[in-house]
Amino acid sequence: MAEGTTLHVRCPRSGQVNYQCVAASADDVRAASARLRAQQPTWQQRGAEGRAQIMQQWAESILAHKSALIDALTADTGRTRESELEVYGLAELIKRWCRQAPPLLTDSAPIATSAPNITVSSQYVPYPLVGVISPWNFPLLLALIDAVPALMAGCAVLVKPSEITPRFIEPLRATIQAVAGLADVLEVIVGAAETGQALIANVDSVAFTGSVETGRKVGAAAAAHFIPAFLELGGKDPAIVLPTADLDYASSALLWGSTSNAGQACQSIERIYAHESIYEEFVSRLAAKAARTTLTVEGGPIGPIIAADQVEIIRAHLDDAYAKGAVAQCGGQIEIHDGGAYCRPTVLVNVNHDMLVMREETFGPIMPVMPFATSEEAVQLANDTTYGLSAAVFGAEAEADALARRIDAGAISINDAALTAIIYDGEKTSFKASGLGGSRMGASAIKRFLRTKALIHKHDQRDDTWWYAEAKRGI
Ligand code: NAD
Repeated sequence: MAEGTTLHVRCPRSGQVNYQCVAASADDVRAASARLRAQQPTWQQRGAEGRAQIMQQWAESILAHKSALIDALTADTGRTRESELEVYGLAELIKRWCRQAPPLLTDSAPIATSAPNITVSSQYVPYPLVGVISPWNFPLLLALIDAVPALMAGCAVLVKPSEITPRFIEPLRATIQAVAGLADVLEVIVGAAETGQALIANVDSVAFTGSVETGRKVGAAAAAHFIPAFLELGGKDPAIVLPTADLDYASSALLWGSTSNAGQACQSIERIYAHESIYEEFVSRLAAKAARTTLTVEGGPIGPIIAADQVEIIRAHLDDAYAKGAVAQCGGQIEIHDGGAYCRPTVLVNVNHDMLVMREETFGPIMPVMPFATSEEAVQLANDTTYGLSAAVFGAEAEADALARRIDAGAISINDAALTAIIYDGEKTSFKASGLGGSRMGASAIKRFLRTKALIHKHDQRDDTWWYAEAKRGI
């Protein structure tokens, strides 16, 4: 796609192109950046409480425009339930940062140092302009999950959501325009890779959510422009089911953790390891529940596959698994309904680590289940991956906790699955290729958008300290 060209957007329910919009050119991005930069000092000077007042109004504006937002997100993604969750989740996210941010932004009190008569305090200085680049799987929430703390930190923010799901941008702009002062420091632009590259060239810091492949390009471009990049990338999250697990509970939790948003979530459980002593029973419970979980076209929760390319990835992973001996206990194929591509929750057995479905991110509601004999083996299998986003362990609490500590991933849900989709309080750092940069979760997430300045005060100004000795001697 060339800069400034028309984007043709596909409807996931019908497979038809039914929406068009024009991508921002490099000049558009430059102009937007200049506008935002010019207004950022005023935003910063409002102080945390002043910014929180405006952000609270934005949360109300989002709720006031919820129908238009939900309709656009549903048209972008084909699913309704998660679209509603995105809108309410965003309003909650804003309110939470309005509560949490002000004390975190207060300059620290002076503390004593190793030298007598010298104290140091910290001043937090926002990056003037933060850029956000986001994916299609939760178009609204992931476009703003980093933008909100960056705004609360005092930065201006330029957001470029995915070109695959851009319909929500117009109603989102309406929510921003409705709040005095917000559009001065928050712009949302349309575009694909070229617009993303132009954004990186114009901002002071970039927060990226997307695939590992693109993350590497974003990291390289940020390095070339000498700006920090916070990269939240893909995963191949494992779950371990110990003999002490409650199998009815674990199978329900893992079905949810693997199939919500039709498996199109970074924190989806994509591999399950069940102890050999409970393997058969676990698989039969999981497969029975998965087989009862229906598609949105049948009134159920599983929506269409949103991105056309993802349909081919899921198909390739399934074909590769079947060619290598995997057997589906339920689901098992891509189905076309009214032109939209769907994948039923699929439980696979006879799987191994030679298969793409156990190694690469599938991003579909596929649950390959493999038996293990010892905890050692379970940990080795869980860690046999290039990813390290998150994981889950089910079993007696102390035993599950001990195992969780040995898994190389940034967040481990113990006796539940995919909890990072719901619990934002714990700091986490991605392992391996799943990301780089500070934690997006936890209160310290806001620090990613601030530079810390040390104010080092000397309180006694006599020139008697040792580092003046040479000067005093006249050397
Ligand atoms: P993607 O990497 O294809 O695209 C993400 C964004 O990057 C889009 O806005 C796209 O336009 C932009 N982009 C593409 N090429 C670019 C370039 N060269 N320079 C700058 N920007 C560029 O990802 P996707 O397919 O939209 O999203 C799915 C991926 O996102 C999955 O791998 C998923 O695991 C990951 N993801 C991660 C998290 C997380 O928090 N770790 C959350 C959600 C999704």
